[in-house]
Amino acid sequence: VPCYMNEIPFPQLPEMTAIWQDTLDWQPTPEQQNLFQGLYQLIVEFNQQLNLTRLTDPDEFWEKHLWDSLRGISPLLSGKISIPPGEKFIDIGTGGGFPGIPVAIALPNCSVTLLDSTRKKITALTSILEQLNIKNTIPWVGRAEALGQHPRQRESYQFALLRAVAPLSVCAEYSLPLLTIGGLAILYRGHWTTEEEKQLTSAVKQLGGVIESVDAFTTPLTQSIRHCVSIKKVKYTPKQYPRSVGVPGQKPL
Ligand code: SAM
Repeated sequence: VPCYMNEIPFPQLPEMTAIWQDTLDWQPTPEQQNLFQGLYQLIVEFNQQLNLTRLTDPDEFWEKHLWDSLRGISPLLSGKISIPPGEKFIDIGTGGGFPGIPVAIALPNCSVTLLDSTRKKITALTSILEQLNIKNTIPWVGRAEALGQHPRQRESYQFALLRAVAPLSVCAEYSLPLLTIGGLAILYRGHWTTEEEKQLTSAVKQLGGVIESVDAFTTPLTQSIRHCVSIKKVKYTPKQYPRSVGVPGQKPL
């Protein structure tokens, strides 16, 4: 692993180590810390030509990209939920690689497919992942609606992650067809209302899932409000879902 330390300011102060421990009951190894640093540097570099993220300030990147990405899988990091090696994740609408790349760094024995419909973004991520020598990711250009009807992709993932991609019921239609029975979709959200919960409950039921938990928390540096919604797949998703490209967004369930 190349060493990126000290090339760009990046928060790796003792406070950050303590925050990982206190909030997630987990600590990055020095290699993982080095990969986070390298990821930051390469994202900032690629961001000069391509809009991968608007968060390039080191503290913001740490909190809103690294910490937030991993907060969504905190039960897996702390060992509260144990997962066998080789579990398959898909980050739907990964954009600049979040939450998928930090998850791949934190769980090196799992495989993380990074799906986005914008080819330029996936090309940039492929180059970033090569430079960091991260081997447990599969960058993929495509639409979630198409992948969900792909015979070898449908019902093949244990975890689907979605952050800032679409309204809730659209996220449910994108993710549930891709999950195995017992698999979990984790929706990263900001605010959360009972109205949203009602809409999501009805969509999820049609897709073979149940809302398992809604976890409310604040981010550790700026105390921003976040919710992680976990949806468990309990039965097969009817064949008509996901509907054709564009339809879930135009006519949400
Ligand atoms: N998840 C990242 C994050 O939180 O930083 C990026 C969010 S960005 C606002 C949304 C991304 O989702 C865009 O890169 C877009 O191309 C992708 N996207 C939206 N709808 C999609 C679909 N149906 N299939 C695949 N990618 C999609």
